[in-house]
Amino acid sequence: MGDIDAVVVGTGPNGLAAAVTLARAGLKVELYERHDVIGGGLRTVPLFDSDVVHDVCAAVHPMAAASRFFREFDLVARGVDLLRPAVSYAHPLPHGRAALAAADLDATCAGLGEDARRWRRLMAPLVARSGAVVDLLLSDLRRLPADPVAALSFARRVLQHGRGTGPFVTDGARALLAGVAGHVVGALPSLPGAAVALLLGHLAHTDAGWPLPRGGSGVIAEALAADITAHGGVLRTGHEIRDLGDLPPARSVLLDVAPRGFLRLAGDRLPPRYRRALRRFRYAPGVAKADFLVSEPIPWTAREVAGAGTVHLGGTQEQVFRVETATARGRRTDEPFVLLVDPAVTDPSRASGGRRPVWAYAHVPNGDTRDPVDMIRRRIETYAPGFSDTIIASRGVSAAEMEAYNPNYVGGDIASGAMTLRQALIRPTPRIDPYRTPLPGVYLCSASVPPGPGVHAMSGYLAALSALRNDHGVTVPPSLSP
Ligand SMILES: Cc1cc2nc3c(=O)[nH]c(=O)nc-3n(C[C@H](O)[C@H](O)[C@H](O)COP(=O)(O)OP(=O)(O)OC[C@H]3O[C@@H](n4cnc5c(N)ncnc54)[C@H](O)[C@@H]3O)c2cc1C
Repeated sequence: MGDIDAVVVGTGPNGLAAAVTLARAGLKVELYERHDVIGGGLRTVPLFDSDVVHDVCAAVHPMAAASRFFREFDLVARGVDLLRPAVSYAHPLPHGRAALAAADLDATCAGLGEDARRWRRLMAPLVARSGAVVDLLLSDLRRLPADPVAALSFARRVLQHGRGTGPFVTDGARALLAGVAGHVVGALPSLPGAAVALLLGHLAHTDAGWPLPRGGSGVIAEALAADITAHGGVLRTGHEIRDLGDLPPARSVLLDVAPRGFLRLAGDRLPPRYRRALRRFRYAPGVAKADFLVSEPIPWTAREVAGAGTVHLGGTQEQVFRVETATARGRRTDEPFVLLVDPAVTDPSRASGGRRPVWAYAHVPNGDTRDPVDMIRRRIETYAPGFSDTIIASRGVSAAEMEAYNPNYVGGDIASGAMTLRQALIRPTPRIDPYRTPLPGVYLCSASVPPGPGVHAMSGYLAALSALRNDHGVTVPPSLSP
């Protein structure tokens, strides 16, 4: 082997983005992945039927369309078709009603009755300054905002919506925002919940929207991997790293792992104080996933839901807040908050021979061992009676099994660390450079470091820039364009 400049452990979007950045700076890079397939949260595989593929983890990509890394990397120029549904997300309500967040802001407001003007006042200024909002939130969160007006406008809205039920008066607008806040996977209402709601919520109304890549999320991992190999990088799959000592010598080591994984890899090499700080890192509630193979589009009672890319099943704002808070406190419920995607709505190529995938997951207490299929099926049935009759096959992955699939999802925590107010800012320990660890040349680059969870690749990118600066004297970020 010999002469490796940088090693990356883990090939999730962050590990791959780190490797792209390092390889493009001229470094010789090797990646190690425990799975037989690269991608981490970006794997698309057949589960029941060889013609129908399912996204094992991430399915919808507002951040992969908007983040600085992906803007420069330019997925579209690399042949990844980001398909934008006309309705970014829908929220069915009791009595056959539904609220819709259309890609078009005017259309959304038109459906929100008395809250039309309030929704516009909330979202329009963020949409107008979307680039600045995204760059602020998907950053290392360590410097002054480049656009203070956007930052202030965002902060004011977070305070307005993060401390109570907020100013909306209709069920529809309240539920719609609560559903996006649910992506924080924690107690609601909360300031981090409002920040996530406003980041993802405003992206729903931008040109990028909430897209699905044609063919499934795996195409994003393939585009990243193709760039790595084109720049001399080597990917080694089916190769779990159990100890840092197992790695070939390299000046930089970037770890796409959660703090718990880092503790296992580094053991006694870490100073006791840092080890204690990593042990204190808190994990979010878990996620339990159900994949279905079905024979028909979902028979939603509220027909307008059928055009939505993503659907939030949680009932009213009050119900979403109550169930998410109970789940965060470790309490089980049979009616959890569920996120659902019927990918063929946006990407008809995902259906084959009248069969199509349905992707859904429920928020459950961390480490929950329940098979979620029945619970999720019943939740869908509430808003789409007859769904059960369309199921050809199904598979459940409990929160506990989610961790077995990927050790970064501790107890099924797909955010690799709770997004509490503290951990949204200080992730995983208080350090000026959050990517560096006390071990020289060893960096964390997963969703457990800023800016946190989601497929935006910024944790990997920023960790790689830190390694380039500190270990290789490279201070100018390499070009990422095709
Ligand atoms: C069910 C589910 C649905 C989701 N939906 C969305 C969505 O729609 N949109 C979105 O933006 N995000 C979504 N996410 C979250 C998103 O997938 C993650 O935030 C993202 O993948 C984190 O990227 P990462 O690179 O930090 O880590 P990961 O993607 O978790 O990748 C880590 C990789 O490292 C490997 N690894 C770990 N330890 C070792 C080791 N010791 N040796 C070798 N390899 C190792 C793992 O096998 C894995 O491949 C979802 C996640 C899940 C599970």
